[in-house]
Amino acid sequence: MAKKNILLLAGDGIGPEIMAEAKKVIDWFNIHKKLDLEYSEELAGGASYDENETPLTDDVLYKAMDSDAVLLGAVGGPKWDNLEFSKKPERALLRLRKEMRLFANLRPAICFEELVSASTLKPEIIAGLDILIVRELTGGIYFGEPRGIEPIENGERKGINTHVYTSKEIRRVAKVAFDLALKRNKKVTSADKSNVMEAGLLWKEEVQALHDESSVYKNIQLSHMLADNCAMQLVRNPKQFDVIVTDNLFGDMLSDEAAMLTGSLGMLPSASLSEKDKNGRIRSMYEPCHGSAPDIAGKAMANPIAMILSFAMALKYSLNFDKESNMIESAIKSVLKDGLRTADIMESGKKKVTTSEMGDAIVAKLKK
Ligand code: NAD
Repeated sequence: MAKKNILLLAGDGIGPEIMAEAKKVIDWFNIHKKLDLEYSEELAGGASYDENETPLTDDVLYKAMDSDAVLLGAVGGPKWDNLEFSKKPERALLRLRKEMRLFANLRPAICFEELVSASTLKPEIIAGLDILIVRELTGGIYFGEPRGIEPIENGERKGINTHVYTSKEIRRVAKVAFDLALKRNKKVTSADKSNVMEAGLLWKEEVQALHDESSVYKNIQLSHMLADNCAMQLVRNPKQFDVIVTDNLFGDMLSDEAAMLTGSLGMLPSASLSEKDKNGRIRSMYEPCHGSAPDIAGKAMANPIAMILSFAMALKYSLNFDKESNMIESAIKSVLKDGLRTADIMESGKKKVTTSEMGDAIVAKLKK
């Protein structure tokens, strides 16, 4: 089996604490399943700024570009809040996404049966939820030109951002969504604002055209939904969805909304993927949806499950170890069934555990 290289960027706040638990899982697979996952660790975010006066050194960036997968904990914290924009910890993330050309952001929202009561929605609405949001990550209004704030007459100012997408940008992210839907329930909902935006109309037309042109994608049930309606439907009846594909702006909001359906930020992983290069290689970064949680850093309270599930996604989408990825999910379900909970998902009658106790319990459930 070829050796795989993983770069670990623990980052700031709870990042190093949850990464330590992901490392236990990686080590377990190396020892018991001989996966030959070689990992190295580097600084990113505030930790890198403190050492190198930059949130991400060029060396670390090149290492990330060369790795089979990057696992990132979280970056940021009050210590670095007053730095100028280019030095802020969050720039590390933006630079990695940009330079690695990570255009597709995958955010699953899965509601573990054992945690239905953590959601604000009724159990029957949320139990068994398993949806995947595919968000375009490198185009649209966050990057479009012109942009800026300009003075206008009467001492007023105007702010400008440009929402722009090309056919190619739309089709490559729609392709990711269709390919993932083929491995799931073969249903894609594309969310746009084609009723009021030309770029939204182009989005709808290109997604539909890609679907109709392909004999494989024709087997997928494709529907289009206005993004505002999609936001409502996610709360009304989220189980109607399988894969949702949408642009950068709407994806930002819809994926956060979907995330909170499940009740806890500490449970949610994410993946960001590039296109295949000429050698057929995809660059990728996996990270929890939550931030560096400075309020609980160093208190052994952080939930490591989102981090461990991010590694499970890396096994599935970058390293070709589907079976092993499923093993991690089963181990997590089993630990939750046993009643173990970190503080963020604690309920009465359950056993409260620390970050490392949760990691150890998950490792103990992995089957040799
Ligand atoms: P946050 O996600 O860090 O925390 C929000 C709340 O959720 C906090 O109460 C926190 O304690 C809790 N929480 C988050 N993850 C948890 C976990 N694994 N276990 C238990 N509880 C958890 O968001 P924030 O407070 O808005 O941001 C804190 C810092 O993180 C900021 O500097 C922000 O810029 C940064 N941030 C980084 C990323 C990233 O690295 N991808 C994402 C979002 C925010």
